[in-house]
Amino acid sequence: MKTVTILGATGSVGTSTLDLVERAPDEFRVVALTANCDVARLADAARRTRAQRAVVADETCLPALREALAGSGVEAAGGDAAVAEAAAMGADVTVAAIVGCAGLRPAMAAVEQGGTLALANKEALVSAGDVMNAAVARHGATLLPVDSEHSAIFQCLDTKLADRVSRIILTASGGPFRDRALADMRAITPAQAVAHPNWSMGAKISVDSATMMNKGLELIEAFHLFPVAAEQIEIVVHRQSVIHSMVEYVDGSVLAQLGTPDMRTPIACALAWPDRMPTPGERLDLVRVGRLDFEAPDEQRFPALRLAREALVAGGARPAILNAANEVAVAAFLKERIGYLEIAAIVADTLAGFDPASPSSLDAVLDVDREARALAEERVKDRVA
Ligand code: NAD
Ligand code: MG
Repeated sequence: MKTVTILGATGSVGTSTLDLVERAPDEFRVVALTANCDVARLADAARRTRAQRAVVADETCLPALREALAGSGVEAAGGDAAVAEAAAMGADVTVAAIVGCAGLRPAMAAVEQGGTLALANKEALVSAGDVMNAAVARHGATLLPVDSEHSAIFQCLDTKLADRVSRIILTASGGPFRDRALADMRAITPAQAVAHPNWSMGAKISVDSATMMNKGLELIEAFHLFPVAAEQIEIVVHRQSVIHSMVEYVDGSVLAQLGTPDMRTPIACALAWPDRMPTPGERLDLVRVGRLDFEAPDEQRFPALRLAREALVAGGARPAILNAANEVAVAAFLKERIGYLEIAAIVADTLAGFDPASPSSLDAVLDVDREARALAEERVKDRVA
């Protein structure tokens, strides 16, 4: 029996995690569930799983949560501090499935209590990779990837042979606009951007997939998760999303992990690790898939890839600025304040205008994040004006 806390329990990854946990009531017991303000879904999940505590990050939603949980025996709490507290209730596995840098402090709280952090929230690791890895080592915590590509690499990479790994090949679906000409990209709408061909995901990561910033963030994520240098990580567009990523060893052997595009597989891998657990969902039928295609990514049409690689190589505060500016730009795009092509432009402008010292603590990372957001918001206003 493992105890589990799910941060961001009402989102796409959160509900997939709940699905697995609820199918295996003898294997998992829920400690805490959190959400931003999705009270009905959160309260319902907390009642079903008999969670000890349910938390809304947005404190104004706490009265509604209290009401929804009345008589259930589930404790209700609200506010950012309460989310971080919920992350530190001693669960064996804490699933970090909050979207954005908002998930960083709770993810760190889970790391600081030791135990296992199953990380979907890539923005946290992109912004605070060094700080987070240092905390993992200091507190004897275990960091397991949930992102499908990183789960694939984790499954193929034998850490005993770390110095025999020559390359990581990160696969990318290419998103909904992989075949779209640059000239036709200006008119892309939020509705088109969130309609991903292979995966059903939250709005923010769907837009990131459409700009390929998602792959840029994953490049930085891979650098922090695995013992390789930035130039050893290669991105290959693979439109079928069947091979979730690969590891090449010095003898030329390439190991790949395959499966249908269903997040429940990498989530299950992290939940059950070092064991395995069954998942529902379609099995891979290679005959039906028929063919696997590969092509080089196009940094002309997807400049976010170049921006992310440059931020990774420059290091310091650059990845945190990249991430913060992207979060602001994606939110502005989803509200139709800016166009699709302006997302990467705002990220580039923000990076160009801000070069703080390398943050060496969680608070310093959060300061960089806050300042970069304010600058990016200015850039958005410049473009709207
Ligand atoms: P989502 O938008 O569907 O869900 C986000 C969750 O976080 C919700 O429970 C929401 O209530 C909560 N939340 C939002 N803002 C918050 C805040 N300020 N404070 C506290 N909680 C907040 O997102 P998702 O698609 O499930 O993605 C979650 C994370 O997992 C992201 O970092 C994403 O990049 C990563 N990820 C997602 C997928 C996927 O298939 N959806 C795959 C790989 C990685
Ligand atoms: Mg991914």
